[in-house]
Amino acid sequence: MDVINSLRKILKTRFKREHFLAYIKVFGCQQNEADAEKICGFLKLLGFNFTDNILVADLILFETCAVRHTAEEKILAHIGNLKNIKKSNNNIFIAICGCMVEQENIKNYINEKFPFVDFICGAKSIENFPELFYKKLTGEKLNNFCNVPVLQKNKFNAWVPIISGCNNFCSYCIVPYVRGPEKSKDYNQILDYCKKIIKNGSKIITLLGQNVNSYFYNNFNFSDLLKEIDKIDGEFTIRFMTSHPKDFNKNLVDTLANLKHFSGHLHLPVQSGNNRILKFMNRKYTREEYIEKINYAREKIKNLVITSDIIVGFPGETNLEFEDTVSLIQKIKFASIFNFIYSPRVGTAAFNMQDNISHDEKVRRISKIIKIQEEISQEFLSGFVGTNLKVIIEEDHVNKSIARSKSNIIVELKGSFNVGDIVNTKIISSKRSYLIGKKV
Ligand code: SF4
Repeated sequence: MDVINSLRKILKTRFKREHFLAYIKVFGCQQNEADAEKICGFLKLLGFNFTDNILVADLILFETCAVRHTAEEKILAHIGNLKNIKKSNNNIFIAICGCMVEQENIKNYINEKFPFVDFICGAKSIENFPELFYKKLTGEKLNNFCNVPVLQKNKFNAWVPIISGCNNFCSYCIVPYVRGPEKSKDYNQILDYCKKIIKNGSKIITLLGQNVNSYFYNNFNFSDLLKEIDKIDGEFTIRFMTSHPKDFNKNLVDTLANLKHFSGHLHLPVQSGNNRILKFMNRKYTREEYIEKINYAREKIKNLVITSDIIVGFPGETNLEFEDTVSLIQKIKFASIFNFIYSPRVGTAAFNMQDNISHDEKVRRISKIIKIQEEISQEFLSGFVGTNLKVIIEEDHVNKSIARSKSNIIVELKGSFNVGDIVNTKIISSKRSYLIGKKV
């Protein structure tokens, strides 16, 4: 606490106020959301509150993503735009964190082009953010910041990282390079944390990892962890992401089928429906194996909602191979999919593969998939019209609220509710990607 107090004192002198404001912008996945909540917990201890107005912030922090080249370019443009803000108030801090700055070339670029950035903290060292901050403020080193509390953005919604890094090295993916090898978190610590947040009112527990299925700690695997969390007393839902199809096995399906608290939503990225492309992607499963796993899961778990990720235009993907992806989507009928055009990332194996598909052709392919999936999603959603769904309110706007069902379907509700409320609704109509309901 002495350290916190001395930091607070330095900040008070710097800003001539008791409290300070932080603007936090998160790019990318839920893992980044979780990392940002950790940083926010630390900042809160120092006396920071949080603002959506970047112009009044004393600290501007970007939690960045490295998965797509275009996203990186956008983030760099955002950083460039901070120059004038820093110029008008040299007192503020600018921090760039996350996966993007885990890449040495990007880190050097930022240091060279944007010297007004105060500090950089890569994804692998996010736990060390307090030490970095301490060093920035005092010029001294410290290795002593444990047990900084997480500050949940929404109390009802808890991100629980269970495994960091990735060992899979899918040929298109930068994540194993920026987040490092898989490391499962302490089994008992995860359980204690879940007990604590459920007791404190968290209703959605989302277990996070690049590949949650490969969780393994002291002989406990992902199924063991799920079973133990399921035993905790309270009204809550267990979600998890992301699962890798190669590790998604019958044992896990059988476990899920017997959990009281499982959401009923499975996100299982397939990426391609063609075996040659899957092999070049280094995904380690075939189209047939994927279909078999989905069939087994659907057989065992009633009303399972399945979503996926698709990459189109992977180097060398022929039109016929792309059509295999189309036919897989039509066969499985996912509730929804995230579609991406292949994005070359320096340092990955696919970067050196010959990318001979024109941009127009990639756009044609993704447009085709979007259109087909829209029809499938609409059909899926229309099946809910007339049914009753229990939802949890996530956003409260004037005269309408945005909620989510247990199985992750977005429902728009007329009227105003409190964020975190659980509401029984009747679904009255469906739109392209969400449902419209009313309270019953
Ligand atoms: S499983 Fe593949 S796509 Fe997912 S993070 Fe690991 S390397 Fe990337």
